[in-house]
Amino acid sequence: MDIKSLNKEELKELMKGMGQPAFRADQIYRWLHVELVRDYDSMTNISKELRNRLKNEYPLTVLKKARMQESAIDGTRKYLFELPDGNYVESVFMRYKHGNSVCISSQVGCRMGCRFCASTLDGLERNLEPSEMLDQIYAITVDTGERISNVVVMGTGEPMDNLDNLLKFIKLLTDENGLNISGRNITVSTCGIVPGILELAKHKLTLTLALSLHATTDEKRRKLMPIANKYSIQELMDACRYYYEETGRRITFEYSLVGGVNDTEEDAVQLSHLAGRLGSHVNLIPVNPIKERDYTRGNDESIRAFKDRLEKNGINVTVRRTLGGDIDASCGQLRRKAMEEKKSV
Ligand code: SAH
Repeated sequence: MDIKSLNKEELKELMKGMGQPAFRADQIYRWLHVELVRDYDSMTNISKELRNRLKNEYPLTVLKKARMQESAIDGTRKYLFELPDGNYVESVFMRYKHGNSVCISSQVGCRMGCRFCASTLDGLERNLEPSEMLDQIYAITVDTGERISNVVVMGTGEPMDNLDNLLKFIKLLTDENGLNISGRNITVSTCGIVPGILELAKHKLTLTLALSLHATTDEKRRKLMPIANKYSIQELMDACRYYYEETGRRITFEYSLVGGVNDTEEDAVQLSHLAGRLGSHVNLIPVNPIKERDYTRGNDESIRAFKDRLEKNGINVTVRRTLGGDIDASCGQLRRKAMEEKKSV
């Protein structure tokens, strides 16, 4: 039993079982999810006896800051956290004009195998618990002393491959008795697991779903993303339409631009069609080369031309600003580096 993963009702049940009054759950919930305390002893309105009992029976899930790198360029911070079982995950803290944003991981490793991504090179280790997703945000809030207003689930892992825990995490994160982050300020990014998109749609959440499209034909997509062997682009677009109809929220397309692979004019035209039909915003991500693969990004001119073509076709498009280029801030790079260093000791 992981006390930080419980919602208020579940915590009340637990307290009842321990012979405690219901308000004890309110107190503990507040310590965990508003005060963000890192140990039971900080819960000063709880008796020492109960604190000791909780310590023994329900060890708190707290992530330990193993490393932190801060970009000298833009203040972006990359955190490497150690989980209670000794595994590592990484998270990124970014400052934007509209507020602070944290990018969290949803799994230790990933089994999706996207060719350009560093997070998946060693496969999936395990899913993250709701508390372990939450605590990335809590630990960063405490460490920076700054409020976080936006959360993107775009770090290591495929959130739809860990959907139950993701849903519990979102419930806790958006709880008005917790950090109370608005659903509209949460983005969940998926490589396109159709049943997951359909299931998520049924919950009618206000969050933004981002689809990692990365190619406009099935053939090209299969070369970049093994998941494309399972679901066609047509099936994906149908799922996105359903999601939009159920939730009223438009899907964002993410498109990692890989030089000479998916950045031709023809690609831009096709992408305009796909995005146009769903009224989708397109977020272009110039590929971040990883040393294990020989993909490269196109030059600035080709990126601009691709963007212009989409805009001429009436598509709302942004090029992802590269933050933290000096600190291994993209998917899985810091964790890999730390693990390699560990192995070589
Ligand atoms: N599994 C989810 C979320 C994780 S990755 C997903 O696939 O959407 C977040 C985004 O970064 C995805 O669009 C992913 O394809 C992209 N990405 C991963 N590695 C990248 C790299 N080296 N360069 C550019 N984009 C990358």
